[in-house]
Amino acid sequence: MRHADDFASLYIDFDSFFARAEQHMRPNLRGRPVGVIPLRTPHTSLIAASPEAKRFGVKTGTPVGEALERCPDIKFVIARHDVYVRLHHEIIAVVDDVVPVHKICSIDEVSCRLLANERAAAAQLARTIKRELARRIGPTLTCSIGLAPNELLAKIAAEMDKPDGLVALRQADLPGRLLDLELTDIPGIGQANAARLQRCGITNVRALWALSSPHVRAIWGGVAGDRFWAFLHGYQIEHQDTQRGMFGHSRVLGPDWRTPAKTYQCARLLLVKAMRRMRREQYAATALSLSLRRDTGSRWEAEFRGPAFRDDHTALQRLGTLFTRARQERGIGQTKKVHVMLAGIVPIQNIQRDLLEDANARAERERWERLSDMTDALHHRYKAPVLTLGHHGTSPGDYAGAKIAFGRIPALADF
Ligand SMILES: [Mg+2]
Repeated sequence: MRHADDFASLYIDFDSFFARAEQHMRPNLRGRPVGVIPLRTPHTSLIAASPEAKRFGVKTGTPVGEALERCPDIKFVIARHDVYVRLHHEIIAVVDDVVPVHKICSIDEVSCRLLANERAAAAQLARTIKRELARRIGPTLTCSIGLAPNELLAKIAAEMDKPDGLVALRQADLPGRLLDLELTDIPGIGQANAARLQRCGITNVRALWALSSPHVRAIWGGVAGDRFWAFLHGYQIEHQDTQRGMFGHSRVLGPDWRTPAKTYQCARLLLVKAMRRMRREQYAATALSLSLRRDTGSRWEAEFRGPAFRDDHTALQRLGTLFTRARQERGIGQTKKVHVMLAGIVPIQNIQRDLLEDANARAERERWERLSDMTDALHHRYKAPVLTLGHHGTSPGDYAGAKIAFGRIPALADF
């Protein structure tokens, strides 16, 4: 555990996402109070309200009748989940081009981990994300960004100045800036923990703050309590920063993507993404594994082990070898889920080079490595994959990114 005042976590929460999405898609709704409803009936409640409607006290959960009383000009629109999911994939791709998305927390919330050398310029990075979203998606869909030593505080910070906020929480700001929150405003305090705290006489953040770590563990009933205490107090639990295990990506393929050629195309995209993330953290891999799950539920898996590699060319060649094997072993049929994983990770300064590598092979390897570094630099500069090896194309959902937590986001193919 590290005492950290720096911004290891950047959390993005889109403002009134469904309502803003409707305003984004339909310019005539912009600047007007909008309420998103699940069905056209007076007996329903809002599932989202635009910031213009929120000014009248209308919010998620407000019944339609009450919303009309509070805000007679409100325009109701029926939710279009397929549109929101498509937009979700677009915004994730934009963010991911600025800084890799670590976790997708919900349809409109993502968290990113900043590397040590990115933390001093964290606010600049946040502004770049906002600028790129405005440039590539449009000015209507705004987000609020929180910067903090860990994800819990960054998520809290993102809520503090909506809409279009940018709030940085330092350990030195604690607990002062948390004291106005309700206990249940804090992520990790749901109804169950709130009730347990209540039984212990803890009813506000000041009292929560005064508890010791063992005390919170006793209330939570496990080490999750210690973690919560540490995050709340602004500590940064060491992630696998120093001991990284693997870099992987997976994707569920829609029905029209379940051909061998498209499965291969998708795996290439996933691999290139994983390679970029791995290089960003200054690692190389010694193993590449491929897992193909068919729609019948059976699975084909294989792993390629060899000398450490950090360039896309070598990685894609190894993937090609694995796919050849998959074809020979009839592993590649109607593939429903593709998973590529870089494993046997080593920090680049610890790579043991093969003593038998001859001068030509070495020059060749170093050329491909320089090309990959150049590709990354261009991507960083233009916030988009400018230079790719071979056919790049698009992936299903157009985003080959981080894991989706809680499985709350339906795949586009489900619509
Ligand atoms: Mg939101």
